[in-house]
This record gives sequence, C-alpha cells and structure tokens, in this order.
Amino acid sequence: PLVLGIETSCDETGVGLVRGGVLLADTLASSVDEHARYGGVIPEIAARAHLEAMVPTVDRALSQAGLRHRDVDAVAVTAGPGLAGALLVGVAAAKAYALALGVPLHGVHHLAAHVAVDTLEHGPLPGPSIALLVSGGHSSLLLVPDLARGEVSPLGATVDDAAGEAYDKVARLLGMPFPGGPPIDRAARDGSPTIPFPRAKAADGTFDFSFSGLKTAVARWVEARGRAGEPVPVADVAASFQEAVVDVLTAKSVAACRAHGVDTLVIGGGVAANSRLRALAEARCEAAGITLRVPRPGLCTDNGAMVAALGSLQVEAGVPPSPLDIPASSTLPL
Ligand code: ATP
Ligand code: MG
Ligand code: FE
Repeated sequence: PLVLGIETSCDETGVGLVRGGVLLADTLASSVDEHARYGGVIPEIAARAHLEAMVPTVDRALSQAGLRHRDVDAVAVTAGPGLAGALLVGVAAAKAYALALGVPLHGVHHLAAHVAVDTLEHGPLPGPSIALLVSGGHSSLLLVPDLARGEVSPLGATVDDAAGEAYDKVARLLGMPFPGGPPIDRAARDGSPTIPFPRAKAADGTFDFSFSGLKTAVARWVEARGRAGEPVPVADVAASFQEAVVDVLTAKSVAACRAHGVDTLVIGGGVAANSRLRALAEARCEAAGITLRVPRPGLCTDNGAMVAALGSLQVEAGVPPSPLDIPASSTLPL
C-alpha cells in the first residue's frame, strides 16, 4: 500500500511517500529562514507557513514519485508532540486528504517516526532494539520491542535541556546561526576537544541525561576568556562541547544495550546527523559487538519520509487506523 506521510510538528512542512518500506518521494518546505532572526522557532509563523506550503508540498511529492492522489492507499500524519498550531495544520490537512480520497488515516508519534525512518534504509528493526532519540526538543533512551505496534518503553530521558537544544544554545553564545547543530559540527572539525567540560550524569547508573550544566560551563568558560581579554578559540570550544555531549550519549546507549541484552542500537532525531556522534557511536558499538543503525543525515532532521515510514509499518502490521476526529496533541506521550 502507498502511504502519504505529513509532518508539521515544528518548522518543516514535510511530505513523504512510502510503499512497502521503499521511499518514493520526500519533499520539504521550511520556514527556518523566517525564524532565524529570532534565534528560535516562532509558533505562529510556523503554523502560517505550513498552511501555505501544505498543498504544494504534497503535489511536489506526488509528481516526484510520478504518482497521483488516487494512488494513495493511506494517509499518515504527525499527531504530536510538537507546536500545537503547527500540528493542527498537518492533522487537518491529513484528515481532509483521507476523507476526500476515502482512505484510512494513521496518526503517528513524531519521536517514534524519528526512529522508524531508519527502516527505509536498513530494513525492519529487529525487536527488541535500543533507540537513542536525540532531537531539538527531546533526548531519550528507549527500549523498542515493536515500533509498528507502538511498543516503546522509555528507559531514561534528559532531566533538563535536550541535546539539540544544548547545541542551539551553545551556538548562540558562540555567535553562530540557528539551528546550531550544523555550524558547531563544522567548527569542531578544525578544533581539539581539549577543554574538560563536565559530563553530567555520566556515571550515575541511570539512562537519564542532563545538558544544562554543560551549556552553563561553556558560557562561564567563554566569559572568563572575555574578561581576561583573550580571544575565544571557537573551534576548540565547539569540539570540546561536542565531545562532552556525544561521550555521554554513546556511553549510555551502549550501557542500555548491555543492561537489556540487546545487540541493535538505532539513533534518530536531528542530532543523529552529527558527524562526531556517528563516528564515536560506530567505534563504541563495534567494540561492544553491537549493530549500529543510523539513518543518513538528511533523514535525521524533521521530514515527511519518517511519518510515511512509520505509517507504512503500521499499515503493513495491520494496526487499526485512527478515528477521523483524532486530535493534534502537543504533549502526546510515547
Ligand atoms: P523534536 O523532534 O524533539 O520535536 P525537532 O523536531 O525540532 O524536535 P529535529 O528536527 O529532530 O528536532 O532536530 C533539530 C535539532 O537537531 C536542532 O536542535 C539542531 O541543532 C540539531 N542538529 C541538526 N543537525 C545537527 C548536527 N549536525 N549536529 C548536532 N545537532 C544537529
Ligand atoms: Mg527543524
Ligand atoms: Fe523532530
């Protein structure tokens, strides 16, 4: 069955088309430039941009795949979590398409979709797997017995900032543009991780994370440099901050696999695009005999393919569709 996926939880209008686990189209319209001068996403601007971009982005996906509306067998949409107004636009559009085309609607969880997108590249996820979900608003370790059926249990999560949020805040204090992940990733390649920033919760035995103390430590270090009248070694600060983040993320992911006797780790969410996270996870998983799965960088940040991917898994697994009055939920639990 051909599944049309619609994603509008934040600032990207994403549309994907997936049939039987194969990605046929992935189109994106982003309002990121409209938010850039505010240093963060403005919900009202995002919602308005989704409204304008929705129909053209769906049409572009269909023409990219050489398909028509009537070829669609099911519609999947991010029902939450995310920005309420932004989600509403996607959910309303998905209901309209499902109703007009006479096909079932599948409301999907945004974070589960960040994990599900990996199946487009690496095939079905063996159950159980451990998932490290690291994005702009969330950072969690999950035990995933069956993604299609929504069997996902949280093992731990950040107690304060998400990993992506830490990247965005540190980038801002280093004078880099929003979103901060890509510029820090690039800057870090020219630096050395020689500044000993703290690894919060690294040895606390839980699967929780904490990144707000790290962000504060970076701010203090940069301020002290300024007071001393010395230039800030931006590349070294970026590399050191990044090393502190990915050290804890990868160590806890491997520990979670060990604790649960699981030999597959999948990493999803925007921060999974990070080159150092990918490299260190690869090295540590190899040493521990764990199979690592990470989607290509372009599929890590928000997109429609991930929603179509999870919708397709649900359809193929015979998961019943959602009612046509399914709400958009900004706080949808996993
Ligand atoms: P959520 O999925 O929690 O609702 P979101 O959808 O806004 O949040 P994503 O699109 O998954 O988040 O990811 C965006 C985040 O990923 C941003 O914080 C961004 O800085 C970060 N990011 C993107 N690329 C990289 C990279 N190469 N290195 C580190 N972080 C990155
Ligand atoms: Mg985004
Ligand atoms: Fe996301």
